Amino acid sequence: QIDFIQALQMPGTNEDEKEKETEAEKRKMSIAEVRRSLPVYAFREAFIEAVREHQVLIIEGETGSGKTTQLPQYLYEAGFCEGGKRIGCTQPRRVAAMSVAARVADEVGCKLGTQVGYSIRFEDCTSEKTVLKYMTDGMLLREFLNEPDLASYSVMMIDEAHERTLHTDILFGLVKDIARFRPDLKLLISSATLDAEKFSGFFDDAPIFRIPGRRFPVDIYYTQAPEADYLDAAIVTVMQIHLTQPLPGDILVFLTGQEEIETLQEALMERSKALGSKIKELIPLPVYANLPSDLQAKIFEPTPKDARKVVLATNIAETSVTIDGISYVIDPGFSKQNSFDARSGVEHLHVVTISKAASNQRAGRAGRTGPGKCFRLYTAWAFNNELEDQPIPEIQRTNLGNVVLMLKSLGIHDLVHFDFLDPPPQETLVIALEQLYALGALNHRGELTKLGRRMAEFPCDPCMSKMIIASEKYECSEEIVTIAAMLSCNAAVFYRPKAQVIHADSARKGFWSPAGDHITLMNVYNKWQESNFSQRWCVENYVQHRTMKRARDVRDQLVGLLERVEIELKSSTDTIKIRKAITAGYFYNVSKLDNSGLYKTVKHKHTTYPHPNSCLFEETPRWVVYYELVFTSKEFMREMSEIESSWLLEVAPHYYKGRELEDSTNKKMPKQRGKSAKDLER
Ligand code: ADP
Ligand code: MG
Repeated sequence: QIDFIQALQMPGTNEDEKEKETEAEKRKMSIAEVRRSLPVYAFREAFIEAVREHQVLIIEGETGSGKTTQLPQYLYEAGFCEGGKRIGCTQPRRVAAMSVAARVADEVGCKLGTQVGYSIRFEDCTSEKTVLKYMTDGMLLREFLNEPDLASYSVMMIDEAHERTLHTDILFGLVKDIARFRPDLKLLISSATLDAEKFSGFFDDAPIFRIPGRRFPVDIYYTQAPEADYLDAAIVTVMQIHLTQPLPGDILVFLTGQEEIETLQEALMERSKALGSKIKELIPLPVYANLPSDLQAKIFEPTPKDARKVVLATNIAETSVTIDGISYVIDPGFSKQNSFDARSGVEHLHVVTISKAASNQRAGRAGRTGPGKCFRLYTAWAFNNELEDQPIPEIQRTNLGNVVLMLKSLGIHDLVHFDFLDPPPQETLVIALEQLYALGALNHRGELTKLGRRMAEFPCDPCMSKMIIASEKYECSEEIVTIAAMLSCNAAVFYRPKAQVIHADSARKGFWSPAGDHITLMNVYNKWQESNFSQRWCVENYVQHRTMKRARDVRDQLVGLLERVEIELKSSTDTIKIRKAITAGYFYNVSKLDNSGLYKTVKHKHTTYPHPNSCLFEETPRWVVYYELVFTSKEFMREMSEIESSWLLEVAPHYYKGRELEDSTNKKMPKQRGKSAKDLER
């Protein structure tokens, strides 16, 4: 059993009550006072001067020093938006783009979406008036398609450069190129860690502007032995802190994703409820990528007196968003990372151990406003011997299909010689080209086809874009955009309260289609639409209203884009047509049940398992197409539908050979199964 009680009783650096008082004071400060209290404030004039003098500036400063919220404002105040130009600032994460824009709008004293706005995928909260625009790096990449010289911007800040996301890495190459023929464009590359030298080197030795951080000491504690269950260990540690440490002093726990966060949130509520009025109130607050915006605001609200916040966050809280008042950090040492295995063509999300750099960033979050403590739920030995120094840049471990399509659309043909900060493995580039060729987005010379050009209009990955365009041929665009929207929400559609599991499950089963999960998702949406988008309907059916509203927004946008590529809205009730359109996009993701009763991907014979939530979990049809693989204990296929192998020759003749689909006649079935979807649907 984990026990940090001793550490908590040790006279750490955290005993200084004065520090806590100043912290409490700070909460009462006005916005203007907070702005002046940030470390960047002292460098305001020097910074503006440096931007005037240099075209490219690398900025390095501790997280929370005010880079993201202040620097664009300083430039705006200094007149950099004169002449109707904008200042842009990219963020790797959507939650950060939204919350930072909201904060800056507050500071400027305007309504979000007017002078200060943000743009994230499927959501544009800007207007003609917008001069300070926060956006995800992926959105800026898309803006290049419409405005290849970024003419509407006078300043572009590529923020959180140290995160090295795929999109940010591509942006480095693009903005560096633009800077050459737009001498009036100012570029800021800002980073929270110590890789400034590397960025400077890449940008032709651009000067580095350093903002000295203000960081209080953080005591670091390790477990004596490895923890078998880090979630449980995290709960115990939170409770130990809460029960033994005086207020104020909030807790930040780093977890890997929404599911873990919700589990912990529930467990903590139960524990503190069990202790009742004997203890001070404990307020668990989640932070993760798909957190709805009304919940986002909560994390920044000051902690009520006589209560303690426990922020349950993904690595988004490492550097992207800063929450004031954290004195304790609990770090289990894991994060979720996407990875791509070029050999098997398999792409998935994995839980991995974090790097030393990330681990130190996490610890630093305890020492922002006063001295703090960090509890690492791993051993000191593991830290020293098992953690990599730096994370691997995303570009070297992910599928590049999406960005290759984007770069081709921008007219960049020679990808091998693209100016990469760190190049991707040759093999992954080749695979991306092959996949785009199989999808029909590129011709055999590697040039963009008309189909490819249409696909690039959609802010989706190439498989989804292709599925949407294929809906034209199969005359079911209405249904396909619904399915695409539901898949894009990336959030749970159903909820399953512990006390009502039976009701919830039976409500869920009511939507099931023998054709599979895609049609099931469509059914949910259509029924909701029939209810006039009613919230009550959602409650009665154990459907998440928030997810549905988001799906509706996404769907509206997709419908708008259909118009751009001149696809008419047509509706079909034939689920074969719908599933053919899905297969036209996702034909890489096809698995076949073999004679041993296991699903194997057709091309690479990679074993995949039906997800327990799938409506086909027990049906086990012979051939299935799935949306994605998620790796937890096994490689699970999320959202799968039954298909017929003959469709593969129809939708992907470049990719599949008749021989690979030989037993398509379904002569021998491995085991008894129910009627096929086709029989039932007709
Ligand atoms: P950096 O980019 O250097 O990490 P930021 O500009 O994001 O720093 O944050 C500076 C300060 O602004 C934070 O320490 C915090 O006090 C405040 N802040 C940032 N975002 C918000 C928000 N959404 N709500 C309230 N305060 C915020
Ligand atoms: Mg920042």
